[in-house]
Amino acid sequence: MMELYAYRCDACGELHHPRHFVCRKCGNTEFTEEVLNGKVRVLSWTKVYNLPEGYMQPYLCFAIVKFEDSGLIVSVQINDDKPYIGQEADAAVGVVKEAIGKDFYGFIVEPIAV
Ligand SMILES: [Zn+2]
Repeated sequence: MMELYAYRCDACGELHHPRHFVCRKCGNTEFTEEVLNGKVRVLSWTKVYNLPEGYMQPYLCFAIVKFEDSGLIVSVQINDDKPYIGQEADAAVGVVKEAIGKDFYGFIVEPIAV
């Protein structure tokens, strides 16, 4: 499994994902990569049916999740038909979009079996 990275501003410490060229808090342009712990909690989620061209599924679930140790909030694809708010999940890097001859990588969240 690939590791998850976020980008911490060298000046003020604000954590970013995806990578920004300019810190959204202080305007600095220097960042250091930081490995993220994979435990997240679902803050909100939605099911999307009208996917852009290139998706091989009828719909996908997307969630806003918060990393438990860093507090970073990101939007992810979640591999669960019925996510719920407060759900714990594992984040991993995987193929989020399969198109002909081209894959796109991003965060994918797998629910933790309770
Ligand atoms: Zn900053």
